Amino acid sequence: MSHPDAFTRLIQALCVLPNVGPKTAQRMAHALLQQNRQGAAELAHALQHALKQVNHCLDCNTFCEGERCNLCADPQRDPQRLMIVHMPADVAAMERAHCHDGHYFVLMGQINPIQNMDLNSIALEKLVQRLARSTISEIIIATAATAEGDATAYVLIELLKAQPYRISRLARGMPLGSEIEYVDAGTLAQAVYERKQLNHTP
Ligand SMILES: [Zn+2]
Repeated sequence: MSHPDAFTRLIQALCVLPNVGPKTAQRMAHALLQQNRQGAAELAHALQHALKQVNHCLDCNTFCEGERCNLCADPQRDPQRLMIVHMPADVAAMERAHCHDGHYFVLMGQINPIQNMDLNSIALEKLVQRLARSTISEIIIATAATAEGDATAYVLIELLKAQPYRISRLARGMPLGSEIEYVDAGTLAQAVYERKQLNHTP
């Protein structure tokens, strides 16, 4: 098999982006090379730089430069309370709502109930490791009010229910079908304050 030419290779590479198929990729490649070569060079440079610099925080699994993110390194945070969320944007939303003073764990994904509940789509192993070396007593499951959020919460509860943690989930005050990052701060704060405890561990 011969190597594709440079333009074809670029189109194929752009198809790694979410929701980008060959047609869209072709339009993108054309725009980058025809109309905005400077922007294309900046994109290539930023991508290369990010690949080199951005890692996952050793504690919470969010994106960060260096070993630990600012939030995990902050001694003011309550080391006993851990909130589990889907994505880094959810951490940002919770911080805007000022309703959680503990630490976070970012799953970097969600469980899809119609795609065989694939457990590899969330960072379960890293969560188990994080819990093993912590002083956490309370876990707040802050997954979305969607089918995926429910499936993710179910997997987490099954994983954690035999462990000595107080486990709670955000109250049902959140609009059904909502992703955390799009819920307004007031509603989010209320859902955290009214969270429902799911087990009877102290
Ligand atoms: Zn962190």
